[in-house]
Amino acid sequence: MLAYRLIERKRDGGRLDAGEWRALVMAYAAGHVPDYQMAAFLMASFLRGLDRAETAALTEAMLTSGERMQLSDLGVPRVDKHSTGGVGDKVSLVLAPLMASLGVAVPMMSGRGLGHTGGTLDKLESIPGFRTNLTLAEARKQLEQVGCALIGQSNEIAPADRKMYALRDATATVESIPLIAASIMSKKLAEDLTGLVLDVKRGSGAFLPELERDLELAEAMIRLGADHECPVVALVTAMDRPLGRACGNALEVEEAIHALKGEGPADLIQLTYALGAEMLVLAGAVPDVDLARREMEKAIGTGRAAERFQQIIEAQGGNPGVVDDPAVLPQAAECELYIAPRRGFVARVEPRAVGRGIIALGGGRTTIDDVVDPTVGFVITARPGDWVEQGEPLATIFARDRAGVDAGRQALRNAISIAEEADPPLPLVSHRVTAGGVEVVQQA
Ligand code: URA
Repeated sequence: MLAYRLIERKRDGGRLDAGEWRALVMAYAAGHVPDYQMAAFLMASFLRGLDRAETAALTEAMLTSGERMQLSDLGVPRVDKHSTGGVGDKVSLVLAPLMASLGVAVPMMSGRGLGHTGGTLDKLESIPGFRTNLTLAEARKQLEQVGCALIGQSNEIAPADRKMYALRDATATVESIPLIAASIMSKKLAEDLTGLVLDVKRGSGAFLPELERDLELAEAMIRLGADHECPVVALVTAMDRPLGRACGNALEVEEAIHALKGEGPADLIQLTYALGAEMLVLAGAVPDVDLARREMEKAIGTGRAAERFQQIIEAQGGNPGVVDDPAVLPQAAECELYIAPRRGFVARVEPRAVGRGIIALGGGRTTIDDVVDPTVGFVITARPGDWVEQGEPLATIFARDRAGVDAGRQALRNAISIAEEADPPLPLVSHRVTAGGVEVVQQA
């Protein structure tokens, strides 16, 4: 009866008070509200929206539906980074060991591939033996030992969000600013952080492509952080093309390892440094972003960051030899070049088409139970704005069989357009958002 009345009220544009949010979320988590009622409620919320107090109440209710890490006695700052989702986005794989090598603890809770976007957990699991399903006790122990734990959302953390998120994914109710903000922040606040950096993606490959909505999302999450004394900084970054060159789970791990050795593609390194500088300043490890950058360059140049990744992999049961020899990663059976069908400028490399291509190759999911093939994907060397001649290689397709190569070729035909001219791509980092407001950054 409670759920019915709340659905009706939301449907008609009304609001719920904090007690009602708590009661509804708890009843759903406990199985006392059926999925069909929660689905109707979520759609009403999607269409009618939530005000600030309601967003805060939903976050609090989902946060308190589970356990929270207790990390203050670690004696070091604890900072995480969260991305709203992209294609080729392997920043977490570089950033987490890099920060840990600089004395900042990173309790990083990541997700799996969602829609056309990739997920850090799927990427990590392409490393032979790597376990992402650590318990909170194991994660804590690992934080003490190597300063970083790369984990999934266990049943212990925000279980109400876990259930509601799966339902939203199946009912077209993901793209709502208050629902996304509450979902992300309920998990991040459970990590007992001293600071959080958000990478809010904009552009055609982002869940929320328009800048205005991205800024609104960033501001909503910053407010939720402030409610819990967790300072949050958000960078708005480009997802109108894939990040880096590698797109696909094992391929991205390999590219991240190269980046940790100072040999990654320029955009991946630049974004890692931009986000890492914010993390180090938030942690109080350095006074400003210039010094932060120098420290990060040193950690990469001396091999300290790559070594830390080895330690993290070993601690989580994976084969640490992958850092010295990425050929340890599973390899695709077929690999073939994709060449330019004509001469001209590369006008677009469309991330959604690339992401869907990876799914078509078997490297992503269309249902929650799909098994991901870690070997497949693309390495796309063509960048928007490049001039290319007919027959020049633009990408390499990695597939498990010939049919996969054909599907990959078709996906790249849809993704990469060549034209007489190319519009300038979005700046890699365009805005910096803090509790103090929005700053235009425009780093190309
Ligand atoms: N990631 C989340 O964890 N939740 C959302 O709602 C969207 C992206």
